Amino acid sequence: MVRVRFAPSPTGELHLGSARTALYNYLFAKKNDGKFIMRLEDTDQERLVEGSLKRMLGGLAWLGLTWDEGPDIGGPYVPYIQSERLPIYKKQADELINRGGAYYCFCSAQRLEVLRRVQEAEKQITKYDRACLNLKPEEIKAKLEAKLPYIVRLKIPAGQTIFNDLIRGQIKVDNTSLDDSVLLKSDGFPTYHLANVVDDHLMEITHVIRGEEWLPSTPKHLLIYQGFGWSTPEFAHLPNVLNEKKTKLSKRKDGEAVWVQTYQAQGYLPEAMVNYLAFLGWHPKDDREFFTLADLTKEFDLSRAQKAGAIFNLAKLNWLNSSYLRHLPVSELDNLLKPYYEEMCASYNQAPRDTGALTELMRDRLITLASIKEHASWFFRPQVELNTEIIIPKNSTPEKTLHAIKSAHHVLQRLTSWTSQEIKDALEVLVRPGTFSRRDILWPVRLALTGEKESPDVFGVAWVLGQKETLTRLAQAESLLAD
Ligand code: GLU
Repeated sequence: MVRVRFAPSPTGELHLGSARTALYNYLFAKKNDGKFIMRLEDTDQERLVEGSLKRMLGGLAWLGLTWDEGPDIGGPYVPYIQSERLPIYKKQADELINRGGAYYCFCSAQRLEVLRRVQEAEKQITKYDRACLNLKPEEIKAKLEAKLPYIVRLKIPAGQTIFNDLIRGQIKVDNTSLDDSVLLKSDGFPTYHLANVVDDHLMEITHVIRGEEWLPSTPKHLLIYQGFGWSTPEFAHLPNVLNEKKTKLSKRKDGEAVWVQTYQAQGYLPEAMVNYLAFLGWHPKDDREFFTLADLTKEFDLSRAQKAGAIFNLAKLNWLNSSYLRHLPVSELDNLLKPYYEEMCASYNQAPRDTGALTELMRDRLITLASIKEHASWFFRPQVELNTEIIIPKNSTPEKTLHAIKSAHHVLQRLTSWTSQEIKDALEVLVRPGTFSRRDILWPVRLALTGEKESPDVFGVAWVLGQKETLTRLAQAESLLAD
């Protein structure tokens, strides 16, 4: 049975690239009737960020990527948090030493630092010089008995390491380029390499699907598997997610735009986000662009994953999100917009109002849910902020503008049914050569109703405000112009 895992380190928020990796693992599991496992790799205790696991799980859940086993729900291979598995790694490290695949190293941190500096100064590759590789068993015993601090290192054998990557094909590495990496640290914590391989083996992971930044570690991982005499999983290294300057998307360069939560907070829909992330390194058989998570589980195939870096394009995400928003039933969208509406009501000290019509009018203009705040304040503002400079159209006069608003007031007051079409018909009757141009009427009426140079058209705005509020706002503009 296919078993894949998403194994983040809790060093911050859920990164877009990690979410993409989680998504591909999830899709691969679903496509193959397998299991998607969530494992927390928290062995680098210095980089831990408080609350990170909770926020990462929250991000995955928001995207709809449910896991079958994990730190919060358990499973047959508990625990799923590496810091709770320390005795396992210690035992496995001993086992690897016994098998000749690893060795004790008693070098002090100071010696290693000097070694590194010398190698750097001589422009050599910085590598451990294997000073402890050939310690005699008695020497090791004595040092252990004397309780000297030690680490355990991987013993890289001579030769080449060759493996097949499901996305990149055959990869060949000369073992002389590899360092005898640390597997177990002096505080008893394993490093990523040991914990990752031991857990993938014990948790019976069949496919390791992860970001390309881990590709250089894979030969070492294979040598660890080999050292233990274990069979190896398949590997697939997904392309990096790049920013629009084509460098790797990172917190340092791209700020909060790298976090999934940023998009959640801005009111992107999880469906749009999943659809977008799916295309960050993969493409379907045809040129369809809209895929639900369920569609993706059928379509997804690692053989169409790309090698080249995938550029994160915000304009494309915005386009997808606005398409998803446009296609939601109005009542559903209205519900999603509720928190933003409540916020706006509260900021203008207004009682909640029915927003169904507003939502219908605005839905084609939204990029994110939060963008409603830029577009709909005219609806909630108790008093339209007007000044005579903006309400009077170019080439018109205060008198003519006042006359236009009064005429509009007059015809709109007489309407007995209030739809955008009727409002439109009524206002257009006023447009006549020699009297008012369209602009003479529509501009000041729209400004009287919204106070904003940009808004949806006046017919829709009046419809959404309702007849009573429309007439009140027109009367306010009349008194401004009459002063
Ligand atoms: N803990 C690693 C990370 O933070 C996992 C890499 C892997 O999937 O092997 O991404």
